[in-house]
Amino acid sequence: MIHHERVKPDHHVYPPDEWNIIEKKFNPNFLAQMETSLAVGNGYLGMRGCSEEGGPAGQEGTFINGFYETWPIVYGEDAFGYAKTGQTIVNATDTKIIKLYVDDEPFWLPNANMLNYDRRLNMKAGMLEREILWETPSGKQVLIKSKRLVSFPHRHLAAISYEVTVQNAQAPVVIASQIVTMHRENSQDDNDPRKAKAFKDKVLQPLMNHVQDRRVVFCHSTKNSKMILGCGIDHLLETECPYTYTGESSEEFGQIVFTIEAQPGHPIHLTKYMSYHTSHTASFEEMDDRVERTLDRAVTMGFSSLQTGQHEYMDEFWERSDVQVTGLGESKTKRSSVEIQQAIRFNLYHILQAAGRADTTGVAAKGLTGQAYEGQYFWDTEIYVLPFLIYTSPLIAKNLLMFRYRLLDKARERARELNQKGAMFPWRTINGDEASAYYAAGTAQYHINADIMYALRKYVNATGDENFLYEYGAEMLIETARFWSDLGFFSKKSGGRFFIHGVTGPDEYNTVVNNNTYTNLMAEENLRYAAETVELIREKHPNRFEALVNKTNLDLSEVESWYKAAESMYIPFDEKMKIHPQDDFFLEKEKWDFENTPPEKYPLLLFYHPLVIYRFQVIKQADIVLAMFLLGDDFSLEQKKRNFEFYDPLTTGDSSLSSCIQSIIAMEIGDYEKSANYARMALLMDLADVGGNVKDGCHIASMGGTWMALAYGFLGMRDYDGILTFRPRRPPDSTGIMRIPLTMHGQRIVVEIDASARTVKYSLHEGDGLMIRHEDEEIRLTKDEPTATRPIVKDS
Ligand code: BGC
Repeated sequence: MIHHERVKPDHHVYPPDEWNIIEKKFNPNFLAQMETSLAVGNGYLGMRGCSEEGGPAGQEGTFINGFYETWPIVYGEDAFGYAKTGQTIVNATDTKIIKLYVDDEPFWLPNANMLNYDRRLNMKAGMLEREILWETPSGKQVLIKSKRLVSFPHRHLAAISYEVTVQNAQAPVVIASQIVTMHRENSQDDNDPRKAKAFKDKVLQPLMNHVQDRRVVFCHSTKNSKMILGCGIDHLLETECPYTYTGESSEEFGQIVFTIEAQPGHPIHLTKYMSYHTSHTASFEEMDDRVERTLDRAVTMGFSSLQTGQHEYMDEFWERSDVQVTGLGESKTKRSSVEIQQAIRFNLYHILQAAGRADTTGVAAKGLTGQAYEGQYFWDTEIYVLPFLIYTSPLIAKNLLMFRYRLLDKARERARELNQKGAMFPWRTINGDEASAYYAAGTAQYHINADIMYALRKYVNATGDENFLYEYGAEMLIETARFWSDLGFFSKKSGGRFFIHGVTGPDEYNTVVNNNTYTNLMAEENLRYAAETVELIREKHPNRFEALVNKTNLDLSEVESWYKAAESMYIPFDEKMKIHPQDDFFLEKEKWDFENTPPEKYPLLLFYHPLVIYRFQVIKQADIVLAMFLLGDDFSLEQKKRNFEFYDPLTTGDSSLSSCIQSIIAMEIGDYEKSANYARMALLMDLADVGGNVKDGCHIASMGGTWMALAYGFLGMRDYDGILTFRPRRPPDSTGIMRIPLTMHGQRIVVEIDASARTVKYSLHEGDGLMIRHEDEEIRLTKDEPTATRPIVKDS
């Protein structure tokens, strides 16, 4: 049994295909889910996979990373320091609508007679493609082909190529290409706290609109947060058929309408360009200019050039990131290697879409595929998404860490508000202010400070980017170390051990506890890394050190106190049970009655008052198990086994962040079957809709976790000391090949496991040379000796 599993993630509805997620039939029951899965985005702009024709509505959505509305959080009973202002990503103006009429009959998916239907997310090309053969009520056959892309090279730009051919007759055809800013309700309802807030009033206030030739441009501002959104559409129509067009625009609606005398077999090809710009500070005139410039450039470039640029970007992404599998097969579930490959790519592709151009923003929990969790950033980025990015797209990783640095001043302010020294990063945020209204499962997750610093270290180790560490990282380290040192205390009662009380660890089913083991271990790591970094800078870069001291008012005695706190850190351990208690009180609690909890009562958070949940030994997501992965050297293998065996049965997996981590540790302790089951659950979290809420957006953390389950689980990769170490394990009866590329210090290696041959091959693909470890052996891959093959030492 894994994770008190409700849904068996054995099947999904998509036909197997290595590079495409294919929909072969229009199915109104899966509308919202398909919109999520087939969303296209570039990290800045995201468009859900709604049909061009604008309906029927599932949960239509166009999202711009960091474009949000604020609202006052109203508490029944307020208290000092509670988060005051909510932040919610705005469902922005919809520019992708293209309505089609043939013989004045609208093409409307729910009742159209479709002789052929094929829609696919083409992950190699970075596009959503569709081909439909529609038979109109009068028997005319209309071929509709479209391609939609949100450009990676040009982050403010999206484009649609839309081609209509009436194959067997003449017909009047009308194509109305629209831009619509409506007051759209968010998907909030049904008391699910994970969903976004519904706004009662209109969020987008009109500032300006105009139509000129085939172009319409809108500017709006958000009501409370006063952000400006400029967006616009422009068109090119290519056809041999005679046509005319008109344009109109008003505050919330604009369109260019093409009326065409379609001739049989002659294609009518419309290209639609869509541009979005947002700002906190610029005037709307300036936003208008920006939109116009982007559209001018797009029209000059043309769709095929955009398509080529997209292809090139994707080729490079896959070259450095693609996890390839061949010959894998699971006899039990009859899932083929192609299906596994498809699911892996789906996960990696969506991470890119969530992060690709997040230059000045973070990665939202749902990326740009949905509004759930308000479009906010959590620790998901640092602990779940960054490992993949660090080892495949280090520049994106750097941007994300830089984004945290930009929030440091706000984090300092927040620490003051909480009566603490140093800096306290918000648990959930878009603009840097804490937006979590439920402090017990929000602000109290202080561990986010240490999580960010953990990711910083991983980034610096993997890239060698010491400059980033000195220029930005050190300051964050100093402020977070100050925070821990001030938050905890040396307990006299326990002989001077350093205690941290009143915190919530990753497991949100046990809140505001004392000495959460995960938090204490991560804080220790944070304190040590801060102290070591300061010493390093002092020794090696006196000038930089002076500047740092000036900037932070650092006193060297502080560094001493960080070492002392780290050395004295209290790590709970129960001598009798020989396990690490999750916190001081966890083992005192009664065990949750799993036997009498029916599957439909999960996730527990939707069916039980928090106080009920908090009374019991029941866990939402990996907590100690996560610590055993992140800080594996702090636990012996025996210890890992004992802890895992104790905690795994108590873990509901009510958070999608859990399965991947359980999989990694299950693999390490040799429980291959469990590991594979958990890995499958992470892999199919979205494609097979394991949690039943894909309609609200992709689970980006679990997608990153899927990569981790492959790299850290199956390859047994560890990177604690800055050297990549591999201890690959071969599950019993496994066959096939898995190949993972990794970028380390600007060099690219590929690790290839051949399960049938029981070997692992390391090869250097780019760069001069790199030291790695296989088991306990150090191997230097060089230009002269670029490969090394070793046996997999352990299997069943
Ligand atoms: C999890 C958090 C996570 C958040 C956003 C919650 O359900 O418990 O750990 O950060 O979702 O993904």
